[in-house]
Amino acid sequence: MADILIIGAGGVGRVVAHKCAQQAEIFSNITLASRTESKCVQIAAEVKEKTGRTIQTASVDADKVPELVALIRRVKPFMVINVALPYQDLTIMDACLETGVHYLDTANYEPLDEAKFEYSWQWAYQERFKNAGLMALLGSGFDPGVTNVYCAHAVKHHFDHVETVDILDCNGGDHGYAFATNFNPEINIREVTSNGRYFENGKWIETRPMQFKRAFNFEQVGEKNMYLLYHEEMESLAQNLPGVKRLRFWMTFGEAYLKHLEVFRNIGLDSIEPIMFEGREIVPIQFLKALLPDPASLGPRTKGKTNIGCIVTGSKDGGELFTRYIYNICDHEACYAETYAQGVSYTTGVPAMIGAKQMITGTWMQAGVWNMEQLDPDPFMRDLNACGLPWVDVPYKPLDDISPQT
Ligand code: NDP
Repeated sequence: MADILIIGAGGVGRVVAHKCAQQAEIFSNITLASRTESKCVQIAAEVKEKTGRTIQTASVDADKVPELVALIRRVKPFMVINVALPYQDLTIMDACLETGVHYLDTANYEPLDEAKFEYSWQWAYQERFKNAGLMALLGSGFDPGVTNVYCAHAVKHHFDHVETVDILDCNGGDHGYAFATNFNPEINIREVTSNGRYFENGKWIETRPMQFKRAFNFEQVGEKNMYLLYHEEMESLAQNLPGVKRLRFWMTFGEAYLKHLEVFRNIGLDSIEPIMFEGREIVPIQFLKALLPDPASLGPRTKGKTNIGCIVTGSKDGGELFTRYIYNICDHEACYAETYAQGVSYTTGVPAMIGAKQMITGTWMQAGVWNMEQLDPDPFMRDLNACGLPWVDVPYKPLDDISPQT
């Protein structure tokens, strides 16, 4: 049993609060803090209604280390679950080091002024966490997160050599809006409009946004077009899957979504460069975010399913190459009924809770900064089945054999 501090009261924070509250034998006192405390109070009321448990709330500006340190000293948690934005990762890690508290997040640090996804800043904390006897678990969401654990599971139970991994992320949900993003619009649009990249034969190969497209028939969702993107879990997998020849990440997008993005792009609304507007500086993508529906409001409107998984090809004992497909299917309406959040928040928040559980119960606890695939997948995979994200692991064909590129 341990006390926890959750930072960030968005869609993901809502799910983490609900799922931790459901596990009273693991998570004793739960405090939810965010910049806007009223959002925490709203979530606390929902948690009370669903689970009967009372969680504490607080307000904090997580960009400010002294504010974080004061809050952590007051709450005295075993660990912080950071589900604010990637911009706050380093300040929260600094505060955890200063107060001697463990750390977990779901997305790698990004500087505010540059759309750049890489672990270098957080990996640089390795020695400091190790020396302090503290653990930092990075990327404990779905992708990154569960997809990394799927790869570790494939290595532990099927292959001794992994040749290729294709990560397929399909959101077949429909919220009825002409355009909305399923998580923070600023982070989402930055991710999708950046150049893509995949890993092949020891090198990173850069692609233009949406340059590679494939059709794929997702179970319980149907056929969708998916596009090659860069995604952060490939950086750690390239290091932690020795000898891997190729890593690619694919995400599905509908035509209407892409058309809107193209227009935003053409008129500069996705820019992170500040402009002057009526005498004050504004950042176009932040202005766009203010116009778009709040992702947290999509929950009650979203119908359909997500299907996210890894197609892994490799060999065992020097034999023939073979392929496994490990994936989860999640229903948006069922997620909302359980936690008042849609499936994208749910598939991120549940693994954050499960990662925290591994740290608290000791199955994953070790000092240092860790990516998910570096740890034993078995207890995490068991908890996925038990906590709402059951997985399937089946023989399959390599992506290139089943899905022509268009
Ligand atoms: P939201 O934008 O819905 O919520 C973010 C929350 O963080 C808001 O409540 C916001 O508070 C709070 N916040 C932002 N800045 C600060 C700050 N300086 N101090 C304190 N609180 C702050 O995002 P999501 O819930 O959708 O996403 C949360 C995290 O999960 C993100 O890092 C995202 O990248 C990650 N994610 C990871 C995925 C994965 O599979 N690994 C998938 C989806 C998301 P306020 O409202 O008061 O401004």
